[in-house]
Amino acid sequence: VDQRGGFYPTRLGEMFEDGRFVVTRKLGWGAFSSVWLARDRLNDRHVALKILSAYGSKRTATGQLTESKVLARLASSNPSHRGFPHVLPFLEEFTFESFAGQHVCFVTEPLSFNVPTLRSYLPNKVFPLKLILNLVEDLLKGLEYLHDECGIVHSDLSPSNILLRPFDLDEIIMHQLAEEPSTIYGFPHTVSPKDLPFHPVSSIPLPFFHKSDSGERLHWVITDLGEAQFTDKPLTRIAQSYALRAPEVIMGLEYGPPIDIWSLGCLMYEFIAGQWLFDPKRSDDIPMEIDHLAQITQRTGEHFNEAVLQNYALRKEIKDITGRVILEKFIPHLYCWTEMLENAKARNSHMGLVGSDFIYNKADSQEVEEVIKFIKSCLTLDPAKRISAKEALNNPIFEDS
Ligand code: ADP
Ligand code: MG
Repeated sequence: VDQRGGFYPTRLGEMFEDGRFVVTRKLGWGAFSSVWLARDRLNDRHVALKILSAYGSKRTATGQLTESKVLARLASSNPSHRGFPHVLPFLEEFTFESFAGQHVCFVTEPLSFNVPTLRSYLPNKVFPLKLILNLVEDLLKGLEYLHDECGIVHSDLSPSNILLRPFDLDEIIMHQLAEEPSTIYGFPHTVSPKDLPFHPVSSIPLPFFHKSDSGERLHWVITDLGEAQFTDKPLTRIAQSYALRAPEVIMGLEYGPPIDIWSLGCLMYEFIAGQWLFDPKRSDDIPMEIDHLAQITQRTGEHFNEAVLQNYALRKEIKDITGRVILEKFIPHLYCWTEMLENAKARNSHMGLVGSDFIYNKADSQEVEEVIKFIKSCLTLDPAKRISAKEALNNPIFEDS
């Protein structure tokens, strides 16, 4: 059996770099990595270790090299930028060998929940509007930093890549250790990282809820630069998870930083409405991209530029009909943004009824209207006209505007 390639089966208590890092718990995992909390005994601090799967698995050596270069550029860019605290702080990297091959390991600041985990603790899984506005503001600052300071497109802005910064890591870890003694686990290397023992930092959400109740603002961080790309070369490869994919990516056109803003618009909708904005489906006679573009036209009420569609239609070898015709054929009904407004209002009042004294602030419809306008500005079809992170931060719906 060829054992090369794949995840590294980290054990609690395991040491790296000649005993400098001691693994204390598992923080999470992704398609090509598992992430662990460790004690850095040299600097007497907690760190997160993102251990990539070995070469030979799906992730290529080039991908790992890019993530490493991106992280290095982040670390050497302007730390006084307002977006710096909202992008994962990279400390250093090392590599090690296992039976599976060579693993790259990124050492970063340990953070807390990702968005899906935090959301799972909330009644009816919907964030209060105030929390969403803070979250989006932090993401915009992080994106402004990536786009304008670092020349980087994130290309994979998604809920599991947005993490909460803990108020006090030591306090939370101490609290948790008292409850859950750490154990050494053994398992075969073929085990998927989702089966490994999982103890997210602050798996007990109470400290957060208490602190945010007493007015402390949550701070959010953009992580996972695994798909990030430098803007100094023209970008065309397929990127982003499909539901959050910008139209220019769907159509295979050249793209840049505005694709992150598109994803942000989709996410903001999702956080308010509790469901995906776009949910493209493949069927017998409709390819998924066409369904997706149709949903986009339908929900934004905007039409694609004829020349852009023609170009796309030609590439897709559907020369007999123009893209416009194709799209209109598959639009069942015109979606109303008022529908979303009503949904949001209903959810908000529902949150009120639940009686949560969490940081929920009752949103008035004027505010919800402003939010919808903002989401639409993120979902402008023409990337050249789409709002930038910098412009978006001037919107009075955000605290620091
Ligand atoms: P992948 O590229 O494999 O998706 P990520 O960087 O997104 O890897 O990490 C996978 C998961 O691990 C995240 O969704 C998150 O839950 C957790 N995680 C990643 N980095 C950290 C960190 N610095 N602190 C705490 N948890 C983290
Ligand atoms: Mg990820």
